[in-house]
Amino acid sequence: MKKHNQNEIERRRTFGIISHPDAGKTTLTEKLLLFGGAIQMAGAIKARKASRHATSDWMAVEQERGISVTSSVMKFNYRDFEINLLDTPGHQDFSEDTYRVLTAVDSAVMVIDSAKGVETQTRKLMEVCRMRNTPIITFINKLDREGREPLDLLADIEETLQIECAPLSWPIGMGKRFKGTYNLYKKELNLFTPGEERLGRGVVTIHDLNDPRLDELLGDQADELRADIELLEGAANPFELEEYLKGNQTPVFFGSAVNNFGVREMLNAFVEIAPAPGPRATETREVSPYEDQFSGFVFKIQANMDPAHRDRIAFLRVCSGKFTRGMKVRHHRIGKDVNLSNATIFMAQDRANVEEAYPGDIIGIHNHGTIKVGDTFSDKEPLKFTGIPSFAPEHFRRVRLKNPLKAKQLQKGLLQLSEEGAVQVFRSLFGSDFILGAVGVLQFDVTMARLKDEYGVDAVYEGVDYATARWVACEDRKKLEEFEKRNQTNLAWDSEENLTYLASSEWRLNYVAEQWPGVEFLKTREHA
Ligand code: GDP
Repeated sequence: MKKHNQNEIERRRTFGIISHPDAGKTTLTEKLLLFGGAIQMAGAIKARKASRHATSDWMAVEQERGISVTSSVMKFNYRDFEINLLDTPGHQDFSEDTYRVLTAVDSAVMVIDSAKGVETQTRKLMEVCRMRNTPIITFINKLDREGREPLDLLADIEETLQIECAPLSWPIGMGKRFKGTYNLYKKELNLFTPGEERLGRGVVTIHDLNDPRLDELLGDQADELRADIELLEGAANPFELEEYLKGNQTPVFFGSAVNNFGVREMLNAFVEIAPAPGPRATETREVSPYEDQFSGFVFKIQANMDPAHRDRIAFLRVCSGKFTRGMKVRHHRIGKDVNLSNATIFMAQDRANVEEAYPGDIIGIHNHGTIKVGDTFSDKEPLKFTGIPSFAPEHFRRVRLKNPLKAKQLQKGLLQLSEEGAVQVFRSLFGSDFILGAVGVLQFDVTMARLKDEYGVDAVYEGVDYATARWVACEDRKKLEEFEKRNQTNLAWDSEENLTYLASSEWRLNYVAEQWPGVEFLKTREHA
């Protein structure tokens, strides 16, 4: 028997791209959108990137908010699949949102610059993928330039990210000698012609590597390829779908995004092997996407497009059932039914009149600050999805109020901004200072500007000697009290009254953790 909404669910792929700035995420995104026929959107993504490079202040980010709502979810069709690509902001706008978006995807594509290997932001984002064992496909980019040896890159990924690599394609030379890739899976040769944006041309099927056509096409590089493949057969892991789906193994492709080379090859594998929307955990039970009851959670809030209206859009991922415009749903945290007539349903270019959304899809709910990150909406059953946490901040600042009479507004503003997930707010156990914590430093400027615009609060921030934070938990009450007493100067409450340890360095944190066995130091915390 067919499951509820089976066809719609099984053809959906919801994913994000993880990479370090400049590895080629924007370029790859643009090519993917072009394959999906989303030509206008591809243009907008490119333009957005260009303007971002021209300015470095947060104003540019503010001004881009109009674009960034549409590009937060890029929906396109490819073959029979309906693909949702969720934006993972990566340059100045790298923030906690970047991490949290990854809680709403079913899989990820990792882009690596072949000259650089694994870089810091990729490492951090990979850690987030690990939390849910998100399956990852790797695209090693910029093969048209001199880079590191392919085997060396695989070793780097395996060692730095602790994930097994299974190459599905193999590069033939690089830089000036880059001739293309050999698809190990389909046994096809993909020939590269520099400067030519290709759409499936240049593919030669060669099942037997001893085929003399290989020598005709590749010259002396044919033997190099043969030697490489022989070496690989002994050294590399064979691809195993199950291991990929469990997040233990990453299939690897090589290519050049800017030349649109290797992109279709990867996209074809992606739609075939990447998982469709799966079940999701809640506090009470697991929710299957095939249930007919509607449910979803909010993973991101985008603030006021128009400051005068204080409008916000909450991005909700549909987890089960079907969403239709105007549907009445229950907002569980506040215990209210709301009518979602004014929701934005993100849709693919060629399906302009869609009025419904299925598991894996994202809808935008307009609100005036009533929705928090982590909120669950459903038909009736009280559910609370888990796994949409706050992430320990990596940068800290102290807030200084210019006008002390505005203390109340400051508090209110900071609380709301923290509920939106824009910034985290801590209060030391003694003293009344607010400490801000963020994953990207731009958030501090955005916070100050928004405090002024939306709450009429004139504040500035100053440096503070913290470098890392952990939420503290301990089963043993006595021990926790003792810990609190001894570490007062480093302890703070977050906006939901959770005890947090702020450390001046990673080293210091590890030291304290060693001194206090039985006390847990947590990198994430679920929302109340
Ligand atoms: P992002 O910061 O990860 O979004 O990276 P972009 O897509 O903006 O790419 C960063 C730079 O690398 C840009 O100048 C691109 O034109 C360039 N780039 C992207 N893909 C390739 C490629 O395959 N080969 C070469 N040589 N450059 C590339």
